[in-house]
Amino acid sequence: MRRFGPDRLIDQLRPHITDERVLEAMHTVPRERFVPAELAKEAWDNVPLPIGAGQTISQPLIVARMLEVLQLRGGERILDVGTGSGYHAALLGHLGSHVWSVERHRALSEQAQRNLREAGVRNVTLVIGDGARGLPECAPFDAINVAAAAGDDIPEELQKQLGFGGRLVVPVQTGDQRLWLVHRTPRGLERKGLERVRFVPLVT
Ligand code: SAH
Repeated sequence: MRRFGPDRLIDQLRPHITDERVLEAMHTVPRERFVPAELAKEAWDNVPLPIGAGQTISQPLIVARMLEVLQLRGGERILDVGTGSGYHAALLGHLGSHVWSVERHRALSEQAQRNLREAGVRNVTLVIGDGARGLPECAPFDAINVAAAAGDDIPEELQKQLGFGGRLVVPVQTGDQRLWLVHRTPRGLERKGLERVRFVPLVT
């Protein structure tokens, strides 16, 4: 189905994102359901937007990049840290099997629950708490997505909850802030620094 907002956004993402599944997910999940009603007309712009409690829904290009590096193929059990609006969790749910998404702000989590329901997303479980600790009772995960910046290093607890072949993407604030990708391979944990980004801090 052709829809002007999503079509234009996908045109903007295509030069940077090669995974067609990610582009299809970004076209399908209705971002307008995850932003405050008064910002709905900007929902398909490639920009972060305020969602209350001093937090933002991330820029679509960054979300798409984080989805791409996780290399989801369907069937994955996924942990998402920093639910915010629930948008990133909905995309992860579209690409994988089930998502557990942790948020420390109760009000944001409750709004995210409403957003997910209105968007018809059924495979995302929201949890209120400190996502830096992960969710050991549901581990191991095939993929872990962190949408707030860890200080100095990749959180140890999250790496521990990564299953065999699993991937973790997380912004880390050292001198600058950049995305890191951790892959659990038969040789052990392989870490790779990616592009510079700007996320709010992971509050612990
Ligand atoms: N993924 C969100 C945007 C994330 S903004 C979306 O798609 O809309 C980062 C979120 O991380 C904020 O909502 C913030 O409250 C949350 N956060 C920060 N530290 C956290 C922690 N330790 N545990 C869980 N959530 C945290």
